[in-house]
Amino acid sequence: MDFNDSPDEAAYREKARVWLAENAAAHRAEHGEPGPTTPEHMAAAKAWQARKAAAGYACITWPAAFGGGGGTPIQSVIFGQEEAKAGVSYGYFTIGLGMCVPTVMAFGDDATKQRFVSPAVKGDEIWCQLFSEPAGGSDVAALRTRAVRDGDEWVINGQKVWTTGAHYSDYGIVLVRTDPDVPKHKGLTMFWIDMRDPAVERRPIHQMSGGRDFNEVYFTDLRIKDSQRLGAVGEGWKVALVTLMNERLAVGGSAGPDYRQVMELARGLPGAQGPALKDQAFRETLADWYVNSQGLKYTRFRTMTALSRGQTPGPESSIGKIISANQLQDLANTAVEAQDEYGVLTDPALAPMEAAFQQSLMWAPGLRIAGGTDEILKNIIAERVLGLPGDVRVDKDVAFKDMPTGR
Ligand SMILES: Cc1cc2nc3c(=O)[nH]c(=O)nc-3n(C[C@H](O)[C@H](O)[C@H](O)COP(=O)(O)OP(=O)(O)OC[C@H]3O[C@@H](n4cnc5c(N)ncnc54)[C@H](O)[C@@H]3O)c2cc1C
Repeated sequence: MDFNDSPDEAAYREKARVWLAENAAAHRAEHGEPGPTTPEHMAAAKAWQARKAAAGYACITWPAAFGGGGGTPIQSVIFGQEEAKAGVSYGYFTIGLGMCVPTVMAFGDDATKQRFVSPAVKGDEIWCQLFSEPAGGSDVAALRTRAVRDGDEWVINGQKVWTTGAHYSDYGIVLVRTDPDVPKHKGLTMFWIDMRDPAVERRPIHQMSGGRDFNEVYFTDLRIKDSQRLGAVGEGWKVALVTLMNERLAVGGSAGPDYRQVMELARGLPGAQGPALKDQAFRETLADWYVNSQGLKYTRFRTMTALSRGQTPGPESSIGKIISANQLQDLANTAVEAQDEYGVLTDPALAPMEAAFQQSLMWAPGLRIAGGTDEILKNIIAERVLGLPGDVRVDKDVAFKDMPTGR
């Protein structure tokens, strides 16, 4: 493991810092800091993405011919770290640029790539990922949305759920069943679709945080062209694995307060004998979080060293999400409980630290599910890192139409 930037990496970091200092200030002067989910917030996000694209800082590893930066994975990580410090970041493009458009680049024909990649890099168009369904989440290959061929077209019927950003997305990649007569992984096909087609209905899901990030999406006789297919008919699982591999890298660690913010909070909170920070049990919990945070930091260094050497991080990067998402939930729980009756306040103007812990408490359970639940990630670590025997998969060779459904 190497903890230091190489001379080239240090030079890139410095260049990125200078660019960010100048451009983040100019961006803020122009757009201010609009509240989340407002049209102004979206406009600011698109403008920031366009600014990065013009300077080669959007999609740093992608070819310049597609509007990318033509850089290396480690440069992309370095820019991401510096951008987080500059405090300008918007989540609208994470799924599209992190998962959907890389899938289009890997499996789309030339015309499709020419049409879609560059507008996505510049932030002109936003994409969403339509995989999960009521009957197919962790086991996404169990999905039931059907596509039936009709000449040069396909007709799609069914329902997706938990589709992040479907309500503001222009396009999406959708995994559907095209052959129910073969085992579940073999009868899937991937397509791209226009989210504004009238046969696509988007219904927002309201979250306990007050946010509306996800949607149910219904397809009623949605007609699409065969040229919208990504990969061969029946090869959708192979295509989905490329998307999901990118998802593991894109979801990464957790954003939110860490043990340092809890320490700061505990200094001002009354405990049994003086500030809560003096409480022995509280201090032990803080020490555990500190130890975990150090473990996470060095695991990330290991990933960065692999990237710096031109290697691809392996399934061990799943460890980071399990630890950080669970720690975020635990930390938010403890901090909200320590605030006693004030813990119920969720108004940023009233709650300590602008309600950062209350927000994390409501967000952390989702983080433990998105991009693979704790249990699924533990299965991955058990099988692919530790070499333990595989999970029981009794329906692997059964034709999809013969799988028991409970009906
Ligand atoms: C914040 C967030 C954003 C999301 N965004 C999207 C999106 O944009 N697009 C999209 O398609 N989906 C999205 N999802 C859905 C997400 O992919 C699924 O919720 C996830 O895959 C789990 O599926 P499920 O909810 O159906 O739970 P299930 O798969 O039904 O799991 C239920 C429980 O059973 C456990 N379990 C399941 N299988 C096993 C097993 N083999 N071994 C042990 N335990 C098991 C799980 O760990 C879980 O505790 C999002 C979810 C969240 C929380």
